[in-house]
Amino acid sequence: MATVATEQKSGRVVIRNVGLMLSGDIDRPILEADTLVVEDGLIVAVGRAADCDTGLARTTIDARGTALAPGLIDSHVHPVFGDWTPRQNQLGWIESCLHGGVTTMISAGEVHLPGRPKDIVGVKALAITAQRAFDGMRAAGVGGGVKVLAGAPVIEQGMTEQDFADMAAAGVRLLGEIGLGSVKAGAEAARMVGWARKHGMQSTIHTGGPSIPGSGLIDADVVLEADADVIGHVNGGHTALPYTQVCRLCEKSSRALEIVHNGNERIAILTARHAIELKCPHRVILGTDAPAGSGVQPLGILRMIALLSSLADVPAEIAIGFATGNTARMRGLRQGLIEVGRPADLVFLDKAQHSAGRDLLDSIRLGDIPGVGMVVIEGLVRCARSRNTPPAVEVPLVVG
Ligand SMILES: [Zn+2]
Repeated sequence: MATVATEQKSGRVVIRNVGLMLSGDIDRPILEADTLVVEDGLIVAVGRAADCDTGLARTTIDARGTALAPGLIDSHVHPVFGDWTPRQNQLGWIESCLHGGVTTMISAGEVHLPGRPKDIVGVKALAITAQRAFDGMRAAGVGGGVKVLAGAPVIEQGMTEQDFADMAAAGVRLLGEIGLGSVKAGAEAARMVGWARKHGMQSTIHTGGPSIPGSGLIDADVVLEADADVIGHVNGGHTALPYTQVCRLCEKSSRALEIVHNGNERIAILTARHAIELKCPHRVILGTDAPAGSGVQPLGILRMIALLSSLADVPAEIAIGFATGNTARMRGLRQGLIEVGRPADLVFLDKAQHSAGRDLLDSIRLGDIPGVGMVVIEGLVRCARSRNTPPAVEVPLVVG
């Protein structure tokens, strides 16, 4: 397990010979650039080598013609504590996702904690503890240095605005999936979503049938009335709403449309197509909903990119934007874009060996998942050739 502490700064990092610079921004997905310069974890230059100051690097990475993209963001995970999940009794699952190109994960609630408190003071205490613990875990390098944004309370009946104010003051910035607790009615959820928004906390709502025994149905009427910031797993987790209801969510709401790996694949494809037809592709963001009954998917975000590109006819560079720049914008994150001033959270990709595709983007369009050659978080190399993806044809090298 990687244990490089993240308190250390990257210094100056120069990445050269990038074959394809993917910005993460679906309006401008491919940049005219082959060089990227990082200073203490932040991108300070992107462009042609001749136009960038590449002197005095502490680390030089030769991309060897591979593609460079923002590190992938998994918009929907259920962490508990550390790099352990009790759901499938696995250790090291977060670090395993690093090898799938994921550099940020967003908690949709720490709901798998055995004995999870449901009384209000307990809900608040767990949210604050999870936020603190995952923040501290990253600083210690556990989980490969992946940024796990956690501390996402599952709201319960009887909570007051003061409870939201207390959590916000303590650093809690997210709500867990609405519907997994006792708040299941649209009007009640809408009131709490409003309090959360007022205090700077983002909200997500469960969409579709129950995920596991004990959870319940949340239909389109409730989702629309609650008006959470993110329509969580719009393709169900796993059981999707009827497609007519999903269409209503696309058409009547302007909130994020989160498509997950642990959902209905047919509805995933139809939703992506419908969002494009409706000219709102910016709303599409990707998650896994791992760990869950379907387990941990270290390659889940890459698989979603390949699924949507090959079967929903989304250009590969746009599908990558769904998992990076779109999530950054919908979630208010700094990371997720290759742009000056952004954190240098990066993934190097190349087509997998023996893919029928001509190049990386063509291989994704044909449904193959790419090979990860290196992952960088805030300018620090976190892994080289992925142990989980099919081997990339070419991988970058640290040359100095
Ligand atoms: Zn859910």
